[in-house]
Amino acid sequence: MSLTTSEYDSLLREYEQRQLDGEMDLRRRREEVTRDVPAIAEIEEQIVHGSVQAARLALAGNSSALDALSRTNDWLIQQKHQLLTGAGYPADYLDRRYVCPICKDTGTETVSQPDGSIVRRPCSCFRRAIIDRYYMDDGLRERLARENFTTFDLRFYSSKKIDEATGQTYREIAETALGDAKDYAARFGSEYRNLLISGYSGVGKTFLANCITGELLSRGFTVLYLSAFRLFEIFEHYRFGDRDASKQASLDFDNILDCDLLIVDDLGTEMSNSYTTSQLFVCLEERDREKKPTLITTNLTMDDLSKRYSERIASRLFQFRYIKLFADDIRIQSMI
Ligand SMILES: [Zn+2]
Repeated sequence: MSLTTSEYDSLLREYEQRQLDGEMDLRRRREEVTRDVPAIAEIEEQIVHGSVQAARLALAGNSSALDALSRTNDWLIQQKHQLLTGAGYPADYLDRRYVCPICKDTGTETVSQPDGSIVRRPCSCFRRAIIDRYYMDDGLRERLARENFTTFDLRFYSSKKIDEATGQTYREIAETALGDAKDYAARFGSEYRNLLISGYSGVGKTFLANCITGELLSRGFTVLYLSAFRLFEIFEHYRFGDRDASKQASLDFDNILDCDLLIVDDLGTEMSNSYTTSQLFVCLEERDREKKPTLITTNLTMDDLSKRYSERIASRLFQFRYIKLFADDIRIQSMI
C-alpha cells in the first residue's frame, strides 16, 4: 500500500488533533490544581505577564531590566513548583506534555544549520508514522515480533558442515554474522555503513535483516523494508504509471530516499530491465550522497551480481559490508 495525498492529509489532521488533545489535557490539569491550590493560578498569570514583558525588553535591547525580570520569573517558577509539590503534585504537573517532545506534536522540527540558517523538516516521528502506516503490513509486523536478536537460534546452523572457502563450520560463520549484525545495529546512526547479507534461500538472511530492523525501530529510526520486487515495481510506476500511480510512486520514491535505513529484500528475484536497474543505481547513489545506509539481502553471489547488474551497481555493492550465511534450509529444519 502506498501513501496518497489524502492519506498524508489525514495524518496531518491526526497531528492537529494530538495538539488539541494536549492542550485539553493541560487545561484539565490546570483546573484541577487551581481548585486545590488557588494561589498557583495567580503565580502562573504573573509568569505569563513576565514573559511578555521580557519579550518587549529584549526587543528594546534593555538587558539590565531583562536580567532582573528573568530572575523574578525564575523565582516565580520555583514558587510554583514548591506549591505543587507541597500539595502532593509532581513539580512538572502543569507542564505541557507531548507525545513527541522534539516537534511538540507538530510533525515538523526546526533545525539550525551550520551557517546559522534555520530549516523546517518533517520530524522523525512523522516519517516513522508514514512508514509504519503505509509500508508495514500485518505480516511484516508479526515477523518483526517473531524474528529478533533474542530469537535468532544458532542451533539451526550445523557445527559439522564446513565451508571449504574459509574452513569454518556453518555455525561459526553464523556466529560471526550474528555478531556483525548486532554490531551494525549498535553503531547505526553514528557510523555510516551499507550492508549486504548473502546466502542461499532459507539460510536466515531475512531473519537477520528483521533483527536489525526491529532493533532500529525500537531506537526511533525510520526503516523502510521493501522486497526487491516491490522496489522495482515502484520504479516502474514512477515512469509508466497513470497519473495517480506515478504520483504515489513519487511519494514512495521520496520515502525510499529519505528513510534512515532502506532494506531491499531478496535482490535478484525481481523483474528488472535497464531502466529499473538504472533507477536502483540512482537510489543507491542518492542515499550514499546523503550518508543514509542501505541493507540488501540476496541469493546471488558477488559474481552473479556483477553479471546481472551494471558494473557501476556491482562496484557499489562490493563496497558494502558483507555478511554471508550458510545452512541447510532453516525453514525446513524449524518445521521438523
Ligand atoms: Zn516529532
